[in-house]
Amino acid sequence: MKIYEIKKEFVHRVPAELEEGVLYVCLDCDVVVHKCACGCGEKVVLPLSPEHWKLSYDGEVTLYPSIGNYQYDCKSHYFIRDDRIIWIESNGKHEKTKKKRKKRKKRNIKTFFNQLFR
Ligand SMILES: [Zn+2]
Repeated sequence: MKIYEIKKEFVHRVPAELEEGVLYVCLDCDVVVHKCACGCGEKVVLPLSPEHWKLSYDGEVTLYPSIGNYQYDCKSHYFIRDDRIIWIESNGKHEKTKKKRKKRKKRNIKTFFNQLFR
């Protein structure tokens, strides 16, 4: 089941058994670990560094950039912002939007020609 909120836990060592819905932040090892927010149970490890993920904490945790679990079957993609999971629409939906836009463009051209040869 998809989750929409995540609890954070600051740890010195990432536990072997991860709890669902918990974001383990290990500042000793510069890593953030959590179970995939879609509920598939896959372990997601995000290294914290200027080249990887950036963690900001003001009482609530925000991670940047987004988390794309394309290596797993679920292919889930989400942001963690202010302790919340913000889901990004699946690629399928993006494609649909693109197709729609193309169709509209074609229609516009047709209208243009119709007007030209009236
Ligand atoms: Zn997943």
